[in-house]
Parts: sequence; C-alpha cells; structure tokens
Amino acid sequence: MKAKIVTLPGDGIGPDVVAEGVRVLRVVAEKSNHHFEFEEHLIGGCAIDATGNPLSDETLAACRASDAVLLGAVGGPKWDVGDVRPEQGLLKLRKGLGLFANLRPVKPHPALVHASPLRPEKLAGVDVMVVRELTGGLYFGKPQGRTNENGHARAVDTMEYSDTEISRIVDLACRLAMARQKRVTSVDKANVLASSKLWREVATQTAHAHPQIKLDHVLVDTCAMRLVSAPSSFDVIVTENMFGDILTDEAAVLVGSMGLLPSASLGTGTLGVYEPIHGSAPDIAGKGIANPIGTILSTAMLLRHSLNLPREADAVEQAVDRVLTDGCRTADIAQKGERVLSTREMSDQIIAQIVR
Ligand code: NAD
Repeated sequence: MKAKIVTLPGDGIGPDVVAEGVRVLRVVAEKSNHHFEFEEHLIGGCAIDATGNPLSDETLAACRASDAVLLGAVGGPKWDVGDVRPEQGLLKLRKGLGLFANLRPVKPHPALVHASPLRPEKLAGVDVMVVRELTGGLYFGKPQGRTNENGHARAVDTMEYSDTEISRIVDLACRLAMARQKRVTSVDKANVLASSKLWREVATQTAHAHPQIKLDHVLVDTCAMRLVSAPSSFDVIVTENMFGDILTDEAAVLVGSMGLLPSASLGTGTLGVYEPIHGSAPDIAGKGIANPIGTILSTAMLLRHSLNLPREADAVEQAVDRVLTDGCRTADIAQKGERVLSTREMSDQIIAQIVR
C-alpha cells in the first residue's frame, strides 16, 4: 500500500523519539512492500520561534491531506510565558482534524512490574483501553471566564455535552471493545451532574446497537479507586474530556514510566494523530536517553487504525514486547546495575526484532 505520513516532531525530546518512530515505519514498509512517504512540519514552540504561530494553516492543510500524523511533543520553559503557547497548536490540530476521541491503551509489561507503584499481583492481567472524549465538555463549554463583581473575583466553566457527541464516542468504544473482551465501562458523575445524566442515558441507548457488548456505568470517583485497587477489572473505559484527562494519567502510572505509553486521536474517518503520552521532557532533551517505546507503540496504533495494517501493527508490538522481556532498558525503566541503552540503541534492538 501507499501512504503519506506527516511527522510533527515538536520540541524537547519530540524530535529524538519521532526520528525512531520513522525508522521503525520505514523498516515495516520495506519488510512488507509498502510505500510510506514522510513529510515533516513544525508544531509547538519551534513553530512559534520560526513563524510566530504554533501550528500554521499550511501545516494543518498538510495533515488533512495525509493518511496519518505522527507527533512528538510540544512545550518547554522557553515558551511558558506569553500569550502564544505551544499547546494551542495541539488544540488547533485536534479541532482542525475533527479528532473527538483519544485512545490510550495501558498494559503493564510483566518484566517491568518493579517500575510500577502497585504490587505485582495487582498488575496481573491488566489490559485497559481508555477512550477519552476530546473536543467537548468542561474544556470547551461556554460561558467560560472570569469576572469581577463588587470587588470579588468570580470564575465559571461549563460542562456541556450533546447526545450526538456522547453517542459517537460511546459507539467508538463499543467497536473497539468488540476486538477485545467486549466489555465497556462508561464513567460519569450521574449522581450530581446533568451532563452526566444525559451521558449515562445516551451511553445505554448507544450500546443497544452492540448487543454483544456488556456495558456498565461507574461513577468517576469509584473508577479512580478501582484503577488502583482492581485495574484488571476493566476492559474499555469511555468517559468525558476532563474525567478522561485525569483518569488517563492515573492509569499511565500503572506501567511505571511515561516513556512507555502510546496514544491515538481519532475522528470519524481513518485519519488520526499518533503520539506518545509524555511531554517534551526538557530535563532530558538533547541527551539521547529518552525512551522511544511510547512513540514506537504509537506507530503500531497508526498502522492499525489509520493504515488498516493489523499484522504489521502486531509485529511492532511483539518486537517491543520481546526486547523488554530480553532485558533491554532505557534509563527510565532500568533498575540499579542494569545496562542502560540510549534512545537509538533501544530502537535498534526493536528494529532487529522486526526484521528477523
Ligand atoms: P513530561 O512528560 O515531559 O516529563 C515528565 C517526566 O517524565 C520527566 O522527568 C521526564 O524526563 C520523564 N519522561 C517523559 N518522557 C520520557 C521518555 N520518553 N523517556 C524517559 N523519560 C521520560 O512532563 P512535564 O515535565 O510535566 O512537561 C514538560 C513539557 O511538556 C511542558 O512544557 C508541558 O506543557 C509539555 N507537555 C506536552 C505534552 C504534549 O505535547 N502532548 C504532554 C504533556 C506535557
């Protein structure tokens, strides 16, 4: 197959890890006789420096015209002040491409249980997919802002959802669950919030179209507890934007390092944005020690969801699994005394497994 992939390396360790993701995709293409064309563009702080804009209209147009986007990370102390912020580029990208769903798989590797804050027995069998609504809810609802009344400051945010926004994300979660354990947990705060009452109602209706799916509803506070007390009880979790923002970070801690986890942001079509869940890690930028696995697993999600190449996606995931089992470690996941690999060396090991 032929595919055009836009890369947006961004800031900090973003360029280091995206370079390794591209190497992996090139190897996959060569091995399976596909033709992947890559086109690199600016996003985030480096784009502000070059153009004054964290995501230019030209870059957005290039992403729209592509089959998939591989992103690194944006941000850093240099751009923390000022009105134009690197993160605005991410929001423009998500909105511009209509990406309403963020997928974060969380599956701790048995060889890395020592890196997790949970006891090994709690981690056995954990394999969760968190599906977070990305373009609605508290982060976008109006009114939003701050006023001053009689010398007192007041601020407001609005959590708003329509039935259409809820049904399309719950439907996606159900379809994902069909290829897994066929269980969906919808997370809300329906005992208090009107938007959550609608969420629960629409989630129930939407799941009726998927008779094989077992849907349950859990309050967000209970879900936060269960993620650490019984994480293996979940298959697919689907939830609104802010709950998802918080729960995905909580779930990420289970695997032991930010550097290990991939994500995908999807809309109605096959075009998606794939990125590791970590940020630009200014503390290790330029040192060549960042863990590339989150990005490499993001390329597996890209192969599966945007390019419909599940066998190639499996091959990448199996290669990562193998090198971790064999004891390959970057600094973030190494125990005392273990040999530490650089970003490039870790990718070399993964690539060697793919070409075997
Ligand atoms: P971070 O994820 O960049 O780093 C948190 C910690 O994890 C750091 O100690 C870092 O060294 C470590 N880490 C992260 N990725 C790693 C990897 N691949 N390998 C090894 N160690 C890794 O989060 P932060 O420090 O809170 O944020 C730094 C910057 O990134 C900020 O400007 C923030 O706004 C931005 N950020 C961007 C995104 C994004 O682009 N999607 C996400 C989160 C944070």
